[in-house]
Amino acid sequence: MNGSIKNCRKCGKMFNYMMGPPICPACREKIEKKFQEVKEYVREHKAASMNQITEDCDVERKQVEQWVREERLVFSDESPIKLHCERCGAYITTGRFCDKCKKETANDVSAAGARETGNAAEAPRNSGLRMHTFRNN
Ligand SMILES: [Zn+2]
Ligand SMILES: [Zn+2]
Repeated sequence: MNGSIKNCRKCGKMFNYMMGPPICPACREKIEKKFQEVKEYVREHKAASMNQITEDCDVERKQVEQWVREERLVFSDESPIKLHCERCGAYITTGRFCDKCKKETANDVSAAGARETGNAAEAPRNSGLRMHTFRNN
């Protein structure tokens, strides 16, 4: 067992944290249900704007954007929501990069490794984690 107790970032409840975002199982399940709802909504309302989606589904814009980055949520060509490839600026319907750039970055190992830092919005400080310090004697 390598878990630790953390407060859920959504509801504040303590839970046994294992990995991934600090969100308790109950909230995780809620988010998953919400995702299915949003996915359905986007499929039925292809031309819905981001505001419409967040209002009708009662979901945070940040959450929707996260699903998009994870390539779980795909917007159709009719959607007014236009995403740009972070590398070349081409229009894309999901994720962060166009197919061409994805292929190119996949070949470029050093570039792919540096992509993980995109979520700079809120990195929860992990106060429980301490670095080992070296003694100089
Ligand atoms: Zn929670
Ligand atoms: Zn691109």
